[in-house]
Amino acid sequence: MPDTATNLEAPLLVVGGGIAGMTAAIEASEAGLEVVLLEREATLGGRVAKLFHYFPKLCPPSCGLEINFRRLRENPNVTVFTLADVDKIEGEAGNYTVTFTVKPRYVKPDAGDYTEWAKECPVEYEDDFNYGLVKRKALYYPFENAYPPRWVVDERAVNDDEFKTWAQGCPDGGLDLDAQPETHTVKCKSIAWATGWQPYDANNLDLLAYGKHTDIVTNVQFERIAAPNGPTGGKVQKPSDGSEPKKIAFVQCAGSRDENHLPFCSGICCAASLKQASYVLESLPEAEVHMFYIDVRTPGRLEDFYQDRQDVEKIKLHRGKVAKVEPNGDSLKVTAENTLTGKLMTDDFDMVVLATGMQPATSVHAPDGLELDENGFAVQTDEPAGIYGVGTNVRPLGVAETLQDATGAAMKALLMARRS
Ligand SMILES: Cc1cc2nc3c(=O)[nH]c(=O)nc-3n(C[C@H](O)[C@H](O)[C@H](O)COP(=O)(O)OP(=O)(O)OC[C@H]3O[C@@H](n4cnc5c(N)ncnc54)[C@H](O)[C@@H]3O)c2cc1C
Repeated sequence: MPDTATNLEAPLLVVGGGIAGMTAAIEASEAGLEVVLLEREATLGGRVAKLFHYFPKLCPPSCGLEINFRRLRENPNVTVFTLADVDKIEGEAGNYTVTFTVKPRYVKPDAGDYTEWAKECPVEYEDDFNYGLVKRKALYYPFENAYPPRWVVDERAVNDDEFKTWAQGCPDGGLDLDAQPETHTVKCKSIAWATGWQPYDANNLDLLAYGKHTDIVTNVQFERIAAPNGPTGGKVQKPSDGSEPKKIAFVQCAGSRDENHLPFCSGICCAASLKQASYVLESLPEAEVHMFYIDVRTPGRLEDFYQDRQDVEKIKLHRGKVAKVEPNGDSLKVTAENTLTGKLMTDDFDMVVLATGMQPATSVHAPDGLELDENGFAVQTDEPAGIYGVGTNVRPLGVAETLQDATGAAMKALLMARRS
């Protein structure tokens, strides 16, 4: 991984180091192309790294990620930059010059293991790996399988006097708080834009009371609550007091298929909630799970996944669009309307999980030259274009479909490399 400013040349630049970007980079390079891969965070892996298990096989994400990290380690044709952001794209299809900045990690490449020392770090910030459920030390290791396997200092800490004083006690002198950003350029023929998705902001859903009670969480937060490397060590607990919830409600289409929020269906939220219902029952066999849905959408092979859970007595499926969630003393009152009969149902729960949808990162930030549809997804063109979306930039997808799309992106890069 380069540490000095460079002028690079590679037929393919991939922006975004989630499962889509990594796969596109690896496959294009294994087919013969030099590739530069940029990731904004301190580690590759994207949002898959934050899942507990992934359907349909319910294996931990480390399986798929480790395979990709090994392929990258063994591959001299992919140059990876983490903490990297594109500044400028100039030129045209077949001949781009892209300028990007790599932020400092503030930890030297040969630094030691700070597991014990970092526990004493006095400065903490909201932990975005755990979707804000807990705080993280300003000196941290992103997660146990992180790639590259390196510590990092949160950039906000570099100007914090308390942190700076503490950092002077670094046991091996491995911190470098004076490190500066570096600017690099890469000349490339095509650009695969794989910046992924973000959870729809549940704070926009006034009637679902997110933010008004800590036991109302989102589906991405629930992945972290169930994960052994998450804030509760994998025990399903109420964030408010750490007690075990006896009755949990999953609210489907929280903001999805709604003209005021996300007008589209993300396609994976129903399967994600059914998966999370299994997390609950594995952790708390006595608990009850209630899922409120408009209609259950589990396309393709996920239909089997749905069928299996329909037979589980403790998973209760209710046809009902949730109209309101209200804190009600110690519990949370959920009101839903049956979408066929119009009848209202009301019940009390210990915890509520909002199944929010996947919003494309391109709806917030996209390069010039990448055509977007009305929801901010990248439009796929018939002809290979110079800049093209990959994975969940194109539509909401599960991992298996994301991998297929990434393989397609690698093929587009090969075509562009040959044409120009
Ligand atoms: C609650 C929930 C549960 C899910 N469970 C499953 C499951 O069990 N099975 C399954 O198959 N799918 C599941 N999914 C879907 C799965 O998370 C996605 O398929 C997967 O994350 C898509 O990968 P990606 O690489 O397209 O995007 P991401 O994972 O979002 O990766 C994008 C990467 O790009 C980086 N990036 C963003 N902007 C920039 C930039 N400007 N410059 C550089 N880098 C940038 C990001 O930091 C990130 O690393 C679930 C989704 C949700 C909401």
